[in-house]
Amino acid sequence: MKVIDLYRKGAPVLSLEIFPPRKDYPVETVFTTIEKLTRLQPGFIGVTYGAGGSNRDRTVEIAARIKRDYQVEALAHLTCVRHTRQEIAEILDELQREGIHNIMALRGDIPEDEDDFQLEKQEYRYAYQLINDVRQRADFGILAAAHPEGHPECRRLHEDLDNLKRKVDCGVDLLVTQLFFDNRIYCDFVDRAITKGIDCPIVPGIMPVLNVKQIKRMVYLCGASIPPKMLSLLDRYENNPADMEKAGIEYASEQVRDLLEDHVDGVHLYTMNKPEQITQIVDNVGLR
Ligand code: FAD
Repeated sequence: MKVIDLYRKGAPVLSLEIFPPRKDYPVETVFTTIEKLTRLQPGFIGVTYGAGGSNRDRTVEIAARIKRDYQVEALAHLTCVRHTRQEIAEILDELQREGIHNIMALRGDIPEDEDDFQLEKQEYRYAYQLINDVRQRADFGILAAAHPEGHPECRRLHEDLDNLKRKVDCGVDLLVTQLFFDNRIYCDFVDRAITKGIDCPIVPGIMPVLNVKQIKRMVYLCGASIPPKMLSLLDRYENNPADMEKAGIEYASEQVRDLLEDHVDGVHLYTMNKPEQITQIVDNVGLR
């Protein structure tokens, strides 16, 4: 099944994102998390992909088992930067063999620790090139990333939106947004995207702040802004992890509730492999 079909049924779709365990942890550790998350009856679960291929085998293996062992639709993320066309072709073949029908097609971040990395020398420089190749190769459902506050590398928001439109026109079924902490940013972005002629669903990606250090790292990477309300929580609970977690769950629940009132097509939760906390959010907002 292609996940886009879920969004045609009218009810808001809950989707979840997990990441494979680090290479030095047994892969089995993630299945306890997945088992708990499947009890939330998500429309699908996405599995992230380590840029550069570090988690390549695990992404495919975990996605395949989500489908096979839990009968939940799976989405395999795939980043193209630093891959050759031949490698991408092999991964797509493997996904097909494993019965994965949906791909989140991404460029991936530019490695920070490689001084000699040159984007212009890569076989893939942008996600739209991957999307073109995926489309030509097989009948996958294709999802892609949207950046409501603009992608950090892009100097002008309108150029980023032009690039997004071009990407969608290559054959994207559905966009999932980067995290944001102020729903007005998402709503404004959707308005601008519609005006630009982007007509696929744009599903908001919500990341609960459960840990101050982790969120600082994420914000550093993706450039999301922190509104005053969130800033005051981070200040207040910086040294109190238990209260930070409670406040983070409440904040994310509030964001989701507000989005549902606005009749979004669905909500995508970045679970950070924390099933208990995600369950609380889903229960708080009545999304199952
Ligand atoms: P693109 O759409 O290629 O955009 C990247 C930059 O290039 C933007 O600034 C854009 O404006 C510009 N651009 C695009 N096309 C053109 C063009 N034709 N000419 C000039 N400029 C252009 N990372 C991982 O490593 N693994 C994951 O599993 C993963 N999952 C993610 C899931 C979601 C929902 C999101 C939002 C992000 C995820 N990321 C993941 C992070 C992602 O890889 C980074 O944000 C990356 O820097 C950009 O990826 P993209 O696919 O949006 O790139």
